[in-house]
Amino acid sequence: MALRFYNTLSQQVEEFLPAHDNTVRMYTCGPTVYDFAHIGNFRSFTFIDILRRVLRSHGFRLDHVMNITDVDDKIIRNAVAQHKSLEDYTDAYTRAFLDDCKTLRLERPERLTPATSHIQDMVEAIEKLTAGHHTYTSDGSVYFRIATFPGYGKLSHNDFSGNLAGARVDVDEYEKADARDFALWKAPKEGEPAWQTAIGPGRPGWHIECSVMAIKYLGETLDIHAGGIDLVFPHHENEIAQSESLTGKPFSRFWMHAEFLMVEGQKMSKSLGNYYTLRDLLDRGYQPEAIRYLLSSVPYRKQLNFTFDGLQSAATAIGRLRNFKLRLETDKYADGSGAGMSARTEKAAHDFVEAMDNDLNTAEALAAAFEYVRDANSAMDSGEFRAGDAAAALDFLGRFDAVFDVIEPTTATNAISDSEIESLIEERQAAKKAKNFARADQIRQQLLDQGIILEDTKSGVRWKRK
Ligand SMILES: [Zn+2]
Repeated sequence: MALRFYNTLSQQVEEFLPAHDNTVRMYTCGPTVYDFAHIGNFRSFTFIDILRRVLRSHGFRLDHVMNITDVDDKIIRNAVAQHKSLEDYTDAYTRAFLDDCKTLRLERPERLTPATSHIQDMVEAIEKLTAGHHTYTSDGSVYFRIATFPGYGKLSHNDFSGNLAGARVDVDEYEKADARDFALWKAPKEGEPAWQTAIGPGRPGWHIECSVMAIKYLGETLDIHAGGIDLVFPHHENEIAQSESLTGKPFSRFWMHAEFLMVEGQKMSKSLGNYYTLRDLLDRGYQPEAIRYLLSSVPYRKQLNFTFDGLQSAATAIGRLRNFKLRLETDKYADGSGAGMSARTEKAAHDFVEAMDNDLNTAEALAAAFEYVRDANSAMDSGEFRAGDAAAALDFLGRFDAVFDVIEPTTATNAISDSEIESLIEERQAAKKAKNFARADQIRQQLLDQGIILEDTKSGVRWKRK
C-alpha cells in the first residue's frame, strides 16, 4: 500500500506523493523563542521528525523549511522589561530550542528561517496585498480584510458567513473593521523597537512571516504544511488567506496537524503546576530517549496523555529493545536458519512499514516491533533462532530505529531518576528500622554524591536535588 496521510483540508486520508520530481516541499511552523519550549511543543516537533524520517524511508528528498518566530508582542514585552535587544533576548532561546531538538534527536530541517531576517520580503508581500485591495490601514497598522477572501474557513471547516462582529478571534489591541481581520503589520507603541520601512515603522504580524518564507523558499504550492492542531485556526487559516490572495494558487496540498498533549489527564498549565519543559524532565533524571519514545508512541492525531508512569514504561520498552539487540550481537547460535524465522522477520518488517504508511500509526508500528521481539526472544530460548537469522533481525531493528531512534543510549546524562531515588529512600528506611545504620548512612551518602539531599522530617523523608 502507498504512503497516505490524513489531510485536514479535505478531511480525508489521501495517498501522498510530492507534486514535482522526488522532493517533498514542506513547511512547518517553528517556535516562538520567548521562553524554553514545553513538552506540548515537543510533541508537535517529534511528530514532524517522525514524518520526515518516514518520507525519507520512501526515498523522497526533503526540502523542509521551519521558521523561528523571533519577533512578537511577548518577545518585545520581555526584552524591553529586561533591557535587552530583541536579538540578545531571542538568541538565547533559539539556541536553547536547537539544543533541546538535538537532545530529542529531532532532525534539523533543511532550512531554518528567522522572521527578522525577512522583514523586507514581508513588506513587499504586504504592498502586493494592498495593491490587490486585500488590506486597510488603521492607526499605522495594516490589516488583512477577510471579506476579500471567499475561501476563508476552508481549513478549519468553520462557517464564517454569519455575523461575527464582537467575536474577537484574533486578540490584539488594535482597531479592526471586522473581528476576524488580522494584523499584517503592527505600528509600534511608545518605547517599542520597530523597523523603518516603506509601509511605515513597525513590525510584522505573526501570520505573514510563514506565508512569505514558505513561498520564498518552497514555491507557491507546498506539498505539506504541518504543525500543532492549535495552529489550524486562526494561524493556518490566515496563512491560506494571505498566500492564496498573493499567488492565486492553492497554498499547500496537504495540511497535517498533531493533537494536544495532556499531562496526567489534564490540560498542561503553569497554574496547575503540571507544566514541563524538556529541561524540567531531564533535571528529574529522565532519559531523552524515553521522552522521545513517549512523545512518538501515540499516533499524532490522537491526544497524548503524558504521565510519569508512561515515561517509566517507555524506559522499560527501550530496555527491552536494547537487550534484544545485545542478544543479537553477542549470543552464539547454531548454524543455519530457523524454521520460518525469515518469514517471521519479513512479516514484522512489513507490518511495521504498513503501520507507518497508514498515516503514521506509530502505536501499531510499535506493536509489530514488540511482537517480533517477544517472538524472536522465545525462538532464541528454544534454539529455533539460528546464526543465519541474525542479520535480517538486526536489519529490521535498524529500520525501526531509523524512525524511532531510541535504541542508542544518550551518554552525556547519567542523572538518577525519581523512582531510583524513591526506592533507595525506601531501602534506607528499612535499613534504619532493622538498626542497620551503616547501610542507612551509606545510602544517604550515595544519594548525596549524586546531588540528592535527604531531609528527615516528622512526616517522613523529603528529598531534593542540589
Ligand atoms: Zn506558521
